[in-house]
Amino acid sequence: MEFETRAIHDGQSPDTQTGAVIVPVYQTSTYRQSAVGKHKGYEYSRTGNPTRHALEVVLASLEEGKYGLAFASGVAATTAVFSLLKSGDHVVAGDDIYGGTYRIFEKVFKKWGLSVSYADVDDPDSFEKAIRENTKLIWLETPTNPLLKIIDIQHVSSIARKRGILVAVDNTFASPYFQRPLLLGADIVVHSTTKYIAGHSDIIGGAVVVNDAALYEELKYYQNATGAVPGPWDCWLVLRGLKTLAIRMKAHEQNAVYLAEYLSGHPKVARVDYPGLTSSANYKIAKRQMTGFGGMIGVEIKGGREQVDKLFANLHLFALAESLGGVESLISYPYEMTHGSMPVEERLKRGITDNFVRISVGIENKLDLKKDISAGLSAI
Ligand SMILES: *Cc1c(COP(=O)(O)O)cnc(C)c1O
Repeated sequence: MEFETRAIHDGQSPDTQTGAVIVPVYQTSTYRQSAVGKHKGYEYSRTGNPTRHALEVVLASLEEGKYGLAFASGVAATTAVFSLLKSGDHVVAGDDIYGGTYRIFEKVFKKWGLSVSYADVDDPDSFEKAIRENTKLIWLETPTNPLLKIIDIQHVSSIARKRGILVAVDNTFASPYFQRPLLLGADIVVHSTTKYIAGHSDIIGGAVVVNDAALYEELKYYQNATGAVPGPWDCWLVLRGLKTLAIRMKAHEQNAVYLAEYLSGHPKVARVDYPGLTSSANYKIAKRQMTGFGGMIGVEIKGGREQVDKLFANLHLFALAESLGGVESLISYPYEMTHGSMPVEERLKRGITDNFVRISVGIENKLDLKKDISAGLSAI
């Protein structure tokens, strides 16, 4: 079955007892056993819950993987993947990643004896060069955050495979609708379901999808043992959001292409980062490995903090806020918001400057969005 159909039906058959078409919210912590160890597949909701199970099945299906695991947040999903490593192991990550992922590496796992090298996402060979004898995991985020560069998943995965190194891809920005890393050779897909997958800015959630049974068992063990699981209500909201993922992603992309083109020609704009612009250095590779370019745009405004503040103060539809991927348009300031936990010199080195803004283009009418951003830019 095709993506749109699987999003609505996989893992979500009508309830056998009542016929309910929608998977119920199983708001229960525990399950009655008919005798010790005799149960219907569920014992305790940290270990497993039917609403969460439905979500895990459909997420695996949409990522073209065998096994899905849902987490309480994207960073909890990331933490579960890092739990596969042990003291002395080395990780290679791209140098343009979500600030919270950088923080987990630097502030949580480093003190437990993991080391991390950051590879230049502009140089396709930098990941190979950064590999050491003790490298166990390559962490990719593509499109990158916040600069929207594209890393060749197939290229990096083939290098890693030869050396027995796992490749994890944070697929949050593309969503499974536009990119399926497991088909490109990655071993692990990670999501912040908070973003496009749930799609309505109303829950925090995360997910991991894999194909390998042993890897799944190990991750499932950490999911249960460390306990960062989502509650059934949140799982239900993600399930509801997923049903419209395909049509939402198409709408996000149409609006993003329109705004990226408009902004590219604007006199107050110094640079637009959007892989869907044919002028983008990342266009070719994006076209090859993704089925769409997504709804995120990076914009460098001419000037500095003062000009950016003027823009923010004069926007009405674009809310100044953290996060992305909801139906409503958001604008953020990575320099102090998502990437504020990164040392200033690191931010500047990576191109996250004080005149850079990140836009999550919503699915409002594109003409209203253009009018709003145009008014904001005129006020500078
Ligand atoms: C938001 C985000 C995360 C973290 O997810 P949470 O749900 O906020 O914990 C990880 N990666 C990317 C790319 C994100 O945008």
